[in-house]
Amino acid sequence: MRDDAALKGEGDRYLIEGILGGDEGAFRQLVDRYGGRLTAYAARRLSGTGVDAEDVVQETFLGLLQSIQKGGERLIQVRSLEAYLFQILRNKAYDIAQKRPEAHGLRKVPLAAEDADGSVDGYDPVAAGGTPSSHARRGEESQLRRRVLADILDELISGLKEEKTFRDLKVLELLFLTTLKGRDIARAAGTSEPTVTRIKQAALERLARLAARHRLGAGGFTLPEGEEDISGLIRSVWRENLLSCLKRSTLGAFALGAIEKDWKDYVAFHLEVVRCETCAANLLDLKSEGTKESIAARERVFQSSIGFLKRAGR
Ligand SMILES: [Zn+2]
Repeated sequence: MRDDAALKGEGDRYLIEGILGGDEGAFRQLVDRYGGRLTAYAARRLSGTGVDAEDVVQETFLGLLQSIQKGGERLIQVRSLEAYLFQILRNKAYDIAQKRPEAHGLRKVPLAAEDADGSVDGYDPVAAGGTPSSHARRGEESQLRRRVLADILDELISGLKEEKTFRDLKVLELLFLTTLKGRDIARAAGTSEPTVTRIKQAALERLARLAARHRLGAGGFTLPEGEEDISGLIRSVWRENLLSCLKRSTLGAFALGAIEKDWKDYVAFHLEVVRCETCAANLLDLKSEGTKESIAARERVFQSSIGFLKRAGR
């Protein structure tokens, strides 16, 4: 089944279709668009481990090529190519670090399974069980449920951004993207504990209403019973899809200081309090965009991966 709403960006779908057809130009665009941010992320996460960031990024593009070969149609079901690439990257970094015992115990290495469920500091893109291969393992019903939840969470978050209801968004990020609890959440968001509870409740009610309107959800999507289960599912889907992550244009405006005050405050919060590693990598990449070094790094990644595209096309 081809689902027109599946891949959010038209550009992403165009790239995947091009790569499916063995188009070198499409592959170059893919590397140009995502290579820098992935390298910046890997360099941050793996610094001090002796693991080469570019190697991991090369592995990531190979992983994507393999996924495309195995089932291009299925890949078009992926909601965000960027989020998908970050998941592959983190899995590759995890695999490589597992093979290097000296890398264990270093704070920046995404290692233990428990950091996938959010018990590690900072916000990383992979959820518990959120590996690309687990997409295949998940049952259809569970995938559908996650898909509906991703859509309606996206709608909720986009709505809060449009209304500039940043306090509520901050509370939700603290609840679902960090390990902070009650009083610390209230303090970090500059509000009270009862307000935190009220914001969470209102968000869950809004999600239930959005689900009832969703074209796939109307047939019977319900949030799981039980506080823990609801939170766990939201946490996992939010992380897997990088739902509240900032647009490149917003990060660019933030870097230039050309951003209105409310937004500036929220971007700083997402980077410094939630400590989103993906947005931090995007920001770093933006700042080095166009430098000789970053262009050369992208070229190296492209050259080291292109042979696999050619082989895949045979
Ligand atoms: Zn982010």
